[in-house]
Amino acid sequence: MRWSGQELGVDQADALPGLAKLNNLVRSVQTPEFAGVTFHEVLAKSALNRVPGQSMMPFGWTINPYRGCSHACVYCFARPTHSYLDLDAGDDFDRQIIVKVNVAEVLRRELARPSWRHEPVALGTNTDPYQRAEGRYELMPGIIDALATSGTPFSILTKGTLLRRDLPLVAVAAEHVPVDVAMSIAIHDHDLQQSLEPGTPSTKARLATVAAVREAGLDCAVFLMPVLPFLTDTRAHLDEALRQVKAAGATSVLYSALHLRGSVKPWFMQWLEREHPELVPKYRSMYYGNNAYPPKEYRRWLAQRVHPLIRAHGLERGREDPVTGGIRSTAESRGRWTRPGAREIAPELGSLGAPSDPATLF
Ligand code: SF4
Repeated sequence: MRWSGQELGVDQADALPGLAKLNNLVRSVQTPEFAGVTFHEVLAKSALNRVPGQSMMPFGWTINPYRGCSHACVYCFARPTHSYLDLDAGDDFDRQIIVKVNVAEVLRRELARPSWRHEPVALGTNTDPYQRAEGRYELMPGIIDALATSGTPFSILTKGTLLRRDLPLVAVAAEHVPVDVAMSIAIHDHDLQQSLEPGTPSTKARLATVAAVREAGLDCAVFLMPVLPFLTDTRAHLDEALRQVKAAGATSVLYSALHLRGSVKPWFMQWLEREHPELVPKYRSMYYGNNAYPPKEYRRWLAQRVHPLIRAHGLERGREDPVTGGIRSTAESRGRWTRPGAREIAPELGSLGAPSDPATLF
């Protein structure tokens, strides 16, 4: 174990170049349980991030207790955010994890301000709050408690099975405020899933977590995102994915096609060249130049394929919940909140359109 930089507010001589800029860096830690990962513990100045008005996100506020994500999904659209710390969007994003160790404490202060309007807050829209680090730092219980006791509705989106640890707390929170829970499960081919999302729990383990959420008395949406052209968009794959999701008890499904923005594109293409070189020309033509999204024709084709399957499995998306910005849930009937301006979102993007500026989400 390496402990360094114990003094607060002191630049560390051995810190990575970008991290030296963080004058709120407490220390950098490596432990044997997290081989190859370094945690950079920081004291956050704020916990709530306002989502810019022009964003496609249907919620107004986010909390990200971590920057970087050891789930290491090759396609992760949050990767470019690491470059704001002069870290790279590839390996560093997966292995250099910023931990806001005081996030719950700061959040409580922010939520206690008279100016706080109890607007819905989204967790997991950028980096995963239940990535492996959460097992060590346990930041989420404090966050959930702070939101619930302040009367703030919230949503959680994750790939992490660690969510199960907090389900009793989430269920209690849902008795007081509207809460929406969603699991992200997109790839139902085991080898492909392990290759594309090497740090995540398996699809099977995530499906079991959906069942656990339902057993806790909560609705659970599944985000079938991203659908990867020529890899996971066959009728057979989508049908089987929806069958398994339904069997696990999911209450609705959202989907969207892969988008590749900025520095995510070369990182993903490197993977594609290694694993599926035969698809490189097709992807180059779909995501050419600065195109982050596949062509409209593809998205239309995918919609025509997916929508009937979603209907057939009884997993049609609920109406967007104007309270949490997530899928309308049973929690809403107990709510008293409205978010003016909540709107229907582009169906082909689901709830998670790409942010206009990822940096603003921290
Ligand atoms: S779990 Fe989410 S935040 Fe983490 S790497 Fe995967 S896509 Fe990115």
